[in-house]
Amino acid sequence: MTSTSVFSALAPYGWDEAWAGQFAPYDAQGLVPGRVLRVDRGQCDVVTADGVLRADTALVTPHDPSPSSQLRSNRGDPVRVLCTGDWAVIDPEGGHPRYVRAYLPRRTAFVRSTSSKRSEGQILAANVDHAVVAVSLAVELDLARVERFVALAWESGAQPVVALTKADLVPDPATLAHLVQDVETSAPGVPVLTVSALHGEGLDVLVALVADGTSVLLGQSGAGKSTLANALLGEEVMDVRATRDVDGKGRHTTTTRNLLALPGGGVLIDTPGLRGVGLWDAGSGVGQVFAEIEELARDCRFHDCAHDAEPGCAVLAAIDSGDLPVRRLESYRKLLRENQRIVAKTDARVRAEIRKDWKRKGAEGRAAMEAKRGGRPRSR
Ligand code: GDP
Ligand code: ZN
Repeated sequence: MTSTSVFSALAPYGWDEAWAGQFAPYDAQGLVPGRVLRVDRGQCDVVTADGVLRADTALVTPHDPSPSSQLRSNRGDPVRVLCTGDWAVIDPEGGHPRYVRAYLPRRTAFVRSTSSKRSEGQILAANVDHAVVAVSLAVELDLARVERFVALAWESGAQPVVALTKADLVPDPATLAHLVQDVETSAPGVPVLTVSALHGEGLDVLVALVADGTSVLLGQSGAGKSTLANALLGEEVMDVRATRDVDGKGRHTTTTRNLLALPGGGVLIDTPGLRGVGLWDAGSGVGQVFAEIEELARDCRFHDCAHDAEPGCAVLAAIDSGDLPVRRLESYRKLLRENQRIVAKTDARVRAEIRKDWKRKGAEGRAAMEAKRGGRPRSR
């Protein structure tokens, strides 16, 4: 297959000149690119220029185009596993099952903390350009929640966009403008749209926005994400979602795709995991959402000011003068605290790993010393 036909076949899935450039060394080795539609049970569905393939993900290594790079298992590092949205490098001659050899360096990644007992991050989606945060106008605006989702979006590297949904329920334009303004103040640098899937209002703006690149829909359950997804996907949603593919053995199987090319251009990633997403190490994301507080804090007398009761605190002064709503500071503190808890958990995991590493090194060292003395290394 020529590189031009690969290009036209994969462009609807987000393939561009930059990806092609990074893939070039693999191309020279006869490997093919494909975008991961879903991952399950150690295998994945990948869309390639030749259609959808099923491939094994057990031996994926991050970007290393040298022909001598060794296939090795990445199990155990939950962030290094393949995920929906990755650009995979596949060996087309690999027999059955085919193996995904590597994935191209991720531009962005959504990672979240897994169940409470484990502190590893779990990768949910890769190479997302726009994170559309759906916020329902049917209920009272919860700005703290908006801030939380926006922080998560910034942290992933994607550009957040807030879509205020069910705009038909707020018929008064002045009220609607106020609500938009409240969200704009809570999320500096984030475009805020209003949409009604019911009347189709504002959908054209959203369609145009997601037409370029890959998008995800975030937000509370009931915020209107499925309705928006259906509107973006058009009529034949069910047909698109449950595509009948022919698997390697020539059987028809019905699979759910978590990544879909949109009829109006662009790609939508909709994974079950992303829907209930929590805050995962959104340190810099929090800073971006609360840019004005971090800006004010530079003028505090003490550089480690907690903005509690410290003299010369510029943040408290802004609250006194009415420039900064108290709610913003409280929400900032809450996110920081939550973030610190997660970071502390991660630190504990890292410390445990280092301890394990030292134990192993110690055992190896003792064995080496015993070998030198002529003794037999102790079995472990
Ligand atoms: P999700 O949980 O975020 O996927 O939310 P859904 O898309 O399932 O929507 C939740 C509810 O809101 C459903 O009952 C929808 O019919 C309703 N809904 C969604 N979009 C609109 C809208 O534009 N206007 C109105 N009035 N209701 C909507
Ligand atoms: Zn201060």
